[in-house]
Amino acid sequence: MSEDYSPLETIIREKINANGSITVADYMELALGHEKHGYYMCRDPFGEVGDFTTAPEISQVFGELMGAWLAAMWQQLGQKEMLLVELGPGRGTLLTDALRATRHVQGFHESLVITMVESSLQLRRFQQATLASAHPRISWQPNLDDLPDMPLLFVANEFFDALPIRQYIKNDAGLQERHVSIDQESDELQFITQAMGVQLVKGGTHTQDHDDDVIVESCPVGRQIAAQLAAHLAEYGGAGLMVDYGYSGESRGNTLQAVKQHGFWPVLKSPGEADITAHVEFDMLAQSFAEVGCVASEVTQQGEFLNAIGGEMRLEALLTEADADQRESLYSGYERLIAPEQMGELFKVLGVCSDDTIPMPGLVSEVNVS
Ligand code: SAH
Repeated sequence: MSEDYSPLETIIREKINANGSITVADYMELALGHEKHGYYMCRDPFGEVGDFTTAPEISQVFGELMGAWLAAMWQQLGQKEMLLVELGPGRGTLLTDALRATRHVQGFHESLVITMVESSLQLRRFQQATLASAHPRISWQPNLDDLPDMPLLFVANEFFDALPIRQYIKNDAGLQERHVSIDQESDELQFITQAMGVQLVKGGTHTQDHDDDVIVESCPVGRQIAAQLAAHLAEYGGAGLMVDYGYSGESRGNTLQAVKQHGFWPVLKSPGEADITAHVEFDMLAQSFAEVGCVASEVTQQGEFLNAIGGEMRLEALLTEADADQRESLYSGYERLIAPEQMGELFKVLGVCSDDTIPMPGLVSEVNVS
C-alpha cells in the first residue's frame, strides 16, 4: 500500500502508525525540513517555474532598498565592524542586490563579515554560486549558534513564515491541540483535535463571545530565533529588519496554508511537494526584542515602508536607463510589491535596534509604554 505515497508521506504515516497523531508543528517540520525529502531540502521553489515568487525575485528594487536601510543603520550605529546575517536567503538574490546597491557607501563592505543562515544544503549551493564573489568574508551555517561576538545587522524576508507552528483550539471543552492523523475509513491524512487536559471556565474570559472553536497559533521556533537575535543585539548592539506576511494585534485563527505552482494546495496533500507557511505574529517578534531592552518599530505595511525609504525614486532612476521591455517589467514588479491588493498591505515590516535614539528609516519607533 505504501508504494502509492511519496517517500515523505510514507515516513509520516509510519510515524503516526507507530506513535499516534503528530502535532501540526511536527508535520510542518517534516514537510519542509526533512533532511532528504523536505520541501526546501530538495528543490528550487522560487520563480515562475517554481511554486511561489518572493519580493527580491519580483523586483531588484526590494533588495536594493534593504541594502540602503542596512547601510543607513550601519552609519548611525557608528560605522563599526559588524556582522551581517541573512536568515533564509532563498536564492541569494536579496543580498546580491543589497551589496550591489551599497558598494559606493564608503567603508561599508569593508566593515562587514557576512553569515548566511540556511538549513537547506540545496539552497545553500544556489546561494554560494550567486554570492561567492560578492564579498570576501561570507560564510554559511544552518542556524544562529556560535555567532562571533560583534555588533549585528540582520535581515529576514519570508523566513519566519516557514517555521513550524502549533495550533490550539479553544472551545467549550477547554483547550485542545490540532494534530495530524490518518482517517481509518478513507485512509487519508486528516486534522484531528487532541485533548490536552486543559479545561477553561465556562463563560470565563477565555470562552465568552465565541460560539465556535477558536484556533490560536504559536511559533515556538520563531520565538526562540527572535530571542537569540534579540539577545545578540542587546549584548553587542545592532539592528535588523524582518519582512513577512502576517499580522499585528488579534490572532487571525487558522493561517496555515500550502502553495504549489502559484496556487493554493491542500495542506495535507503530498507533504514535501508543496510549500507550507503560516502568517507571522509580528507582536510576538516585537515583544522578543522589547523584552531585552531593544526598540521595535511599529509594524508597518510593506508598500508604505518601501515608498517611505525611496522606492519610487529608485524605480524612476532605473526606468530612465531601461529599454521599453525592461521598463514594463521594472514598473510592474515594483507595483506588485507596493499595491495594497497585491503584496503592499498583507506583507509587513518590523525594524528593531539596540539604540532607541537612532531613527530607523521608513519606520516609526514604537513607544514602549510598559
Ligand atoms: N528570503 C528568501 C527565501 C524565503 S523562503 C526570499 O525572500 O526569496 C524561506 C527560506 O528559509 C529558504 O531559504 C529556506 O530554506 C529557509 N529556511 C526555512 N527554515 C529554516 C530554518 N529553520 N533555518 C534556516 N533556514 C530556514
